[in-house]
Amino acid sequence: MSKYIRGYRCTVCGKFFAPGEAELTCPVCGEKGILDVEYDYDALKKVLTKEYFQNNKNYSMWRYAPMMGIEESHIDEMLRIGWTPLNKSHNLAKELGLKELYIKDDGLNPSGSSKDRASGVAVLKAIESGAKVIACSSTGNAASSCACHAAHMGLPAVIFVPKRAPIGKLTQISLYGATLVIVDGDYKAAFSLSKEAISKYGWYNRNAAINPYMVEGKKTVSLEIAEQLNFKPTDWVVVSVGDGCTVGGVYKGFLELYKLGLIEKVPRILGVQSEGCEPFVIASRNHKPLEEAEENTLADSIAVGIPRNPLKALRAIENSKGAWISVPDEDILKAMSLLGRTEGIFGEPAAVASVAGLKKALLEGVISKDESVTVIITGNGLKDPNNAQKAIVKPEIMEPNMKKLDIYLKEKGVI
Ligand SMILES: *Cc1c(COP(=O)(O)O)cnc(C)c1O
Ligand SMILES: [Zn+2]
Repeated sequence: MSKYIRGYRCTVCGKFFAPGEAELTCPVCGEKGILDVEYDYDALKKVLTKEYFQNNKNYSMWRYAPMMGIEESHIDEMLRIGWTPLNKSHNLAKELGLKELYIKDDGLNPSGSSKDRASGVAVLKAIESGAKVIACSSTGNAASSCACHAAHMGLPAVIFVPKRAPIGKLTQISLYGATLVIVDGDYKAAFSLSKEAISKYGWYNRNAAINPYMVEGKKTVSLEIAEQLNFKPTDWVVVSVGDGCTVGGVYKGFLELYKLGLIEKVPRILGVQSEGCEPFVIASRNHKPLEEAEENTLADSIAVGIPRNPLKALRAIENSKGAWISVPDEDILKAMSLLGRTEGIFGEPAAVASVAGLKKALLEGVISKDESVTVIITGNGLKDPNNAQKAIVKPEIMEPNMKKLDIYLKEKGVI
């Protein structure tokens, strides 16, 4: 436990709990009472100055350890997570007509997604608490990242995924040596089974939302974006949304930098969903509480019919004066090849949904072309080669014949 933690506030009833009074969820509200970690910001302000960051040579998310709620004794043993590149876009910016666009490539994390930020924290917390096993259910990326970091730290992991999880992610989990449970059902089914098993066997629970420390890991993406832009983040930050933990973390990261006096304003956040699974978009359009939605999209990481972190996500968009948007799967596939072709970045469908959402937001005037934007690419395209194949024109095999090669190269316009 970090010495800077003051305690936990319930996102539902607003009650505050000192360390020890609450652990995963609110003792009053039960499972729906997801907690938010609060720090002694005055104390942190004295430590986390711009000079502190300038002199910090730890180029990973662990550079933010004092504001991540973790003990620092094991961080040197962990894999390097975070400090992923923030690329200034030239080609994509031009295609979209944007003056200033940055791409945060979080697919370059150890297991290939933003989930490494949360799983790294989960594994550290599991070790802090003396757990013998860590468990998690996920659409695939939290699962593979949890297996990855547990393997590195020698902690056994039990991982639950829905049967539709893409081959890259499934392969990673087994390869990292975790016990893999492929549930014959959707993400909801995997989540419920894991919940039962976790309470029966007393494993450490890495499930998104339930565990408030997952947002403490996720928020480091914003801390990095701000720092990489010299503490002047862009007007907008665009990210795709499934359970809502990532977008909740993105907002909390910026809000805390603002509280610490390190940035002057919190960027507006655009939350992107797929039209095939858009519970947040529907709720915000109808000004109604969130309702269960279908999970009908090829963007598997955001195919979340019952988001587990609804309040943090809704507040992230509302409090940042951001917006919700959804895009059809065809646009996601187009965005995948657009990003690859213009920037040399290969994102999985859920990750590039952000690019498709940005394009639509520009067309609809939600974001204007003279505003600056950071788009987060949350996962690597190699995780899901089958869907990536739908985004490309499949090449044919060629005879080893110079004439045929000439014809082909002419067709392609390279000679
Ligand atoms: C998990 C995930 C998201 C969405 O994060 P949530 O916390 O579920 O909202 C987006 N993209 C990728 C690649 C992910 O793995
Ligand atoms: Zn509560």
